[in-house]
Amino acid sequence: MSDDREIPVEATPPETRCGFVAIVGRPNVGKSTLLNHLVRQKISITSRKPQTTRTNVLGIHTEGRVQMIFVDTPGMHTNQAKAINRYMNRMAQAATLDVSVVIFVVERDIWTPEDDAVLDRLRDLSCPVLVAVNKVDKVNDKSTLMPIFAAIASKLPTAEIVPVSALKSQNLHILETEITKRLPASEFIFPEDQVTDKSMRFMAAEIIREKIIRQLGAELPYAVAVEIEEYVDEGGLVTIGAAILAEREGQKRILIGDKGERIKRIGSDARADLEALVDAKVMLKLWVKVMSGWSDSARALRSLGLDDSGFGR
Ligand code: GDP
Ligand code: MG
Repeated sequence: MSDDREIPVEATPPETRCGFVAIVGRPNVGKSTLLNHLVRQKISITSRKPQTTRTNVLGIHTEGRVQMIFVDTPGMHTNQAKAINRYMNRMAQAATLDVSVVIFVVERDIWTPEDDAVLDRLRDLSCPVLVAVNKVDKVNDKSTLMPIFAAIASKLPTAEIVPVSALKSQNLHILETEITKRLPASEFIFPEDQVTDKSMRFMAAEIIREKIIRQLGAELPYAVAVEIEEYVDEGGLVTIGAAILAEREGQKRILIGDKGERIKRIGSDARADLEALVDAKVMLKLWVKVMSGWSDSARALRSLGLDDSGFGR
């Protein structure tokens, strides 16, 4: 018997688009906050303190036939003296080499020489640049932004300028539309449900580091690192043991606090975020170790996984 059902003729399937999008800008303009809101999940730690982000973090957002792979970069720094600053500069530059789009984040009507330094490095790039003028939720009279838009347009004539509030997720859909237009036709690089390239261990260390920075504010320089020494996932319960590395005995005392008050707070704040991240109960063990001069030693950086082998690790 012949089968006279019509054979469906497949129209060419709509093409997928996929590419890397670097988020660059001076410290504290809101790059990590923007990344977290674009991928709708906390991928990159944030704080009021500059230099919170130390390594390039990939955040992946897939919707429909479009996959955007965001690279959150540590801000660029002018002080080259310390190994950690040199490292951060290299990472910030590396991230702009092989991307389809660059988002240059600036802060409402505040333009500084550091913004000009970032701009200088962008001029040589061949890929399109979008300027996200962030934190516009802080501006009541939006017309005060017009001069800064005009100034940016004269500095970067080909760039598209989008005012946004990363924190309040305002205008991010416009930014996404502009990004999508500029992405190449390509297969997806990551599975649709993956949101970051980082391991759970890395994310756990970052969350603990965020709580330390938030708890201590100006009391501690940023030379504090977290090393995950134990990570055991038993389904409903994840046991995490982490060493906090301080540079000096004095910092260790500050971290521990009066009767262990500080470290307890850091631990309970971190545990709440960790439980949300792993979606299970978390048993968290923290201790403080003194490892002097770690931020100035390139070898110590490598031992902590902060080497300069490029992004995408
Ligand atoms: P980064 O150094 O560029 O990664 O900046 P962060 O993302 O860590 O943000 C620096 C500070 O700016 C944090 O305190 C954020 O909460 C704040 N911030 C970021 N985006 C916005 C925004 O759209 N509006 C407001 N009011 N604050 C923001
Ligand atoms: Mg950051």
